[in-house]
Amino acid sequence: MTNATYRVPVPQNEPILSYAPGTPEREALKASAKEMGSAVVDIPMFIGGQEVRTGKLGDCRPPHDHQRLIGRYHKGTKKHAADAVRAALKARRAWAATPFHERAAVFLRAAELLAGPYRQVLNGATMLCQSKNAYQAEIDAACELVDFWRWNVKFAEDLYAHQPYSPRGQWNRLEFRPLEGFVYAVTPFNFTAIAGNLPTAPALMGNTVVWKPAASTMYSGHFILEILRKAGLPDGVINMVAGSSGEISEVLLQSPDLAGIHFTGSTGVFNSLWKTVGDNIGNYRTYPRLIGETGGKDFIIAHPSADPAAVATALVRGSFEYQGQKCSAASRAYIPESMWLKVKKIMEEQLSRIKMGPPEDFSNYVNAVIDRSAYDSITAYIAGVKPRDGAKVIFGGKFSDEKGYFIEPTVIKAKHSDYKTMCEEIFGPVLSVHVYPDKKWAETLKIVDKTSPYALTGAIFADERAALAEAAAVLVNAAGNLYLNDKPTGAVVGQQPFGGARASGTNDKAGSFINLARWTSPRTVKETFVPATDFPYPFMAKP
Ligand code: NAD
Repeated sequence: MTNATYRVPVPQNEPILSYAPGTPEREALKASAKEMGSAVVDIPMFIGGQEVRTGKLGDCRPPHDHQRLIGRYHKGTKKHAADAVRAALKARRAWAATPFHERAAVFLRAAELLAGPYRQVLNGATMLCQSKNAYQAEIDAACELVDFWRWNVKFAEDLYAHQPYSPRGQWNRLEFRPLEGFVYAVTPFNFTAIAGNLPTAPALMGNTVVWKPAASTMYSGHFILEILRKAGLPDGVINMVAGSSGEISEVLLQSPDLAGIHFTGSTGVFNSLWKTVGDNIGNYRTYPRLIGETGGKDFIIAHPSADPAAVATALVRGSFEYQGQKCSAASRAYIPESMWLKVKKIMEEQLSRIKMGPPEDFSNYVNAVIDRSAYDSITAYIAGVKPRDGAKVIFGGKFSDEKGYFIEPTVIKAKHSDYKTMCEEIFGPVLSVHVYPDKKWAETLKIVDKTSPYALTGAIFADERAALAEAAAVLVNAAGNLYLNDKPTGAVVGQQPFGGARASGTNDKAGSFINLARWTSPRTVKETFVPATDFPYPFMAKP
């Protein structure tokens, strides 16, 4: 019981450190990555507060150096998935009854641990495990995850403050109950911050969670969990399992206590989870909340009035940072004929200065793609580019998997706006460009809208105000995050709530009250201070 109305600390975005030569953070990250890279971490599952080891091991290897072993994680079976569900359900009542400020304090403490003593641990882990350079690791593993943990607490406080009107004589209240059951959090490889946010957002709202990280990120997942444990997360609130996704999902989706899925990953996997839930719909105690942020085919369209240098820079940064493996990465561009040669020249000049290699060498802007399967799939698109289809690789196009999974930033010029690489999500450092006649601006906007089933991010470049307004109107449903004269990547928690619609997901906006509301099942309570003591109403009285 608290005889006070607490206010959570006013959140601030975690400042991004520069890692420039001579800075202490640069030395600290180098030392951390070196130390971590020379050890092999044993990674257990974590169920009901217990570390669980099976001896059935999966390897963790840096994508840029696939012969080096940095960790081994223990794989579970269906039994462990069932144990994790039991542990989550066992912890549910006590956690749901824990006052908000106590729950919030765990995540605020985790944020400060990550901003401080664990910063270069999680940055170093992300650098090694997901092949992110210092800056990409910093904006993801440190800043974005700190921001999720700080801002979600504030969003939760704001949500709880939403209360109904109470006329005289009664008191109407809304209680934001946690869901009745457990939440299944399934996280992707590409952002350590998303891996940290998906299990913790429902947990902050009083839910208990079974978390399955992507196999390729068990290493950074292990350190996220270490921070949460150090921050005082009670046993059973978040249970981390590893192993076959199919087997784990089979057990969890069959459970009558499944109350929600918090997913980020490909559209195909989310569709399969949704379908299984649909098939089982009669078996659940409550309708499970299905929250999924999925694929993208993000666009940049330039109007003839745009600044060519701004367009070219957005294309280079927006398409190739983190090897194009951001769900928001630009992967199709529409450039007017009158501007193309200028944009191309600037892009070529910028791309010629990009270095590719391991992230431990800080001069590298581009590192490796995540694994063998991504490498094979991305390089197949590049190898398939043929002049007879009106497509040509005009920059990059080389790749090697000898030491790591390296693919050069690659630009494909596509004569036809419906060429395969203009339409399909490739999820790698591949940008396709379609050059359109200046007078076909309006038609091209319609093409941008219709080309792909996705609607995650997009950017419009124009100096003419009317052109920006026209494009924003035509593309109203083509992106959940729209950028005007900026690259389509780099959403910041508290500033640009993130998510898309159509085949890009349920658009529940990670890092906002919208997402947190989905993890609650509100109960309305009406209290009448002086209840009626007889049934007739005045209209029934004799005149
Ligand atoms: P993925 O779909 O391959 O994997 C995502 C997660 O699903 C992983 O944990 C994986 O192990 C798991 N999974 C795979 N099969 C499963 C099954 N049958 N049952 C349950 N879980 C299963 O995606 P990925 O390669 O990790 O990430 C890349 C994808 O994620 C891209 O499509 C990208 O656009 C998308 N993404 C979207 C957003 C967004 O906010 N919209 C953000 C990041 C990534």
